[in-house]
Amino acid sequence: MRTTTAWRSTGDGSVTLERVTIERRDLRDHDIALRVDYCGVCHSDLHRVKGMLKEGAIVPGHEFTGTVTAVGPAVTRFAPGDRVAVGTIVDSCGKCAMCEIGQENYCLEGPTSTYGAKDRVDGTKNQGGYSREFVVTERFAYHLPDGLDPAGAAPLLCAGITTWEPLRAAGVGKGTKVAVAGLGGLGHLGVKLAVALGAEVTVLSRTPDKAGDARALGACDLLVTTDEAQVAAARYRFDVILDTVPIEHDLTPYISMVALDGTLSILGYPLPDHGCDHGADARPQEAHRVRHRRHPADRRAAGVRRPAPGHRRHRGAAVQPRRGGAPPPGQQRRPLPLRPRPVRPRPARRLTTAVARTAWCAA
Ligand SMILES: [Zn+2]
Ligand SMILES: [Zn+2]
Repeated sequence: MRTTTAWRSTGDGSVTLERVTIERRDLRDHDIALRVDYCGVCHSDLHRVKGMLKEGAIVPGHEFTGTVTAVGPAVTRFAPGDRVAVGTIVDSCGKCAMCEIGQENYCLEGPTSTYGAKDRVDGTKNQGGYSREFVVTERFAYHLPDGLDPAGAAPLLCAGITTWEPLRAAGVGKGTKVAVAGLGGLGHLGVKLAVALGAEVTVLSRTPDKAGDARALGACDLLVTTDEAQVAAARYRFDVILDTVPIEHDLTPYISMVALDGTLSILGYPLPDHGCDHGADARPQEAHRVRHRRHPADRRAAGVRRPAPGHRRHRGAAVQPRRGGAPPPGQQRRPLPLRPRPVRPRPARRLTTAVARTAWCAA
């Protein structure tokens, strides 16, 4: 076994981290060892440290960059000295239909999270990137491109991919009208990435206070969602809305602003009974409600068409049941609150909700 320094939670619900010595496994054939140089602090780290999953003491950290220090005998993609990045998943079954098409995050056996999960080989509990050294199979390590600041790049491995995926899935490019609700850890990256893709970006916020920050990040406008006149004037305006607000909130203003064939992508909505500081009662009822509008009967009633063959829609993950094993306590799947609803005529428009990985995606 190798040993390294790490920062571990105390497991008593406080946010205190203790400096400890932990063990890392000896390198397997396809493993690399890396020196962790930078690790982002993810919102999910805080939830987990505070005991969201009641898992006791953990070493958090699932968005980090570093330098390869050693490689196993069968490693082909890395050599000592390479700049490297690791994200929220460190293993998967590698043979199911999802793994075979490169969607390991949907692995039918359940992907292995970077911390707090059971190692697939020896069953030990994974310990994350708040540590000096990390060992990972090369399949889940990524080359850090030259010229990319390793400190700034670390959060791209979680918050970055969370906002990048829905932008790419929705085909955002030059001239796409994108709105980003919330300008925090996810939101500011959503703005920067959408601007870099050539989109015309508007920040949605409850107050005008962040207008300066929004423009500094490249947004062309800030729309105040508590101003009914502004919301009404923006009806059907946005091709894509990224909703990064991490507390229970009313989706109605966002829905009204989604264009025909547009996408409302809900990234931060709290999950049921997750016990974090958003409130134990927080439930994604609104998200369910929007998802219902994708039901074929709904679509037929609204006179909307199916996506063209081959059109890739972003598929939800956050409110889907976990695959591979029982859900953690408090997250047992419950039936959606479906009720028969009268079919009312409404404009022929399609509301597509894309629920991407939330910040605690790897939980
Ligand atoms: Zn994260
Ligand atoms: Zn798999």
